[in-house]
Amino acid sequence: MVNVKIMDWCKGCPVCYQACPAPVNVFELENGRPKVAHPEYCFACGLCAELCPAKAIVLEGFEMPYRLPFSESMKSLAKRII
Ligand code: SF4
Ligand code: SF4
Repeated sequence: MVNVKIMDWCKGCPVCYQACPAPVNVFELENGRPKVAHPEYCFACGLCAELCPAKAIVLEGFEMPYRLPFSESMKSLAKRII
């Protein structure tokens, strides 16, 4: 299982919360800031870490072969949606 960590320099935007496509959102908002609430639903897509403007998400145990390949067009679409 991937260990999802939010680092201290998180800006609370909260792009990670909006972007997480897991069936149950891995993140919950607490006073507008994300916390990792349901890590068991993380399927290691890497989108939250990819989109975080502060590079404040660390996915421990993240194995590249399991990462979905995000094209530049998909990333730009996600940035427009969130
Ligand atoms: S996307 Fe990054 S900066 Fe924004 S709330 Fe999530 S961890 Fe914090
Ligand atoms: S890696 Fe994907 S599934 Fe896991 S928390 Fe980030 S956006 Fe959600």
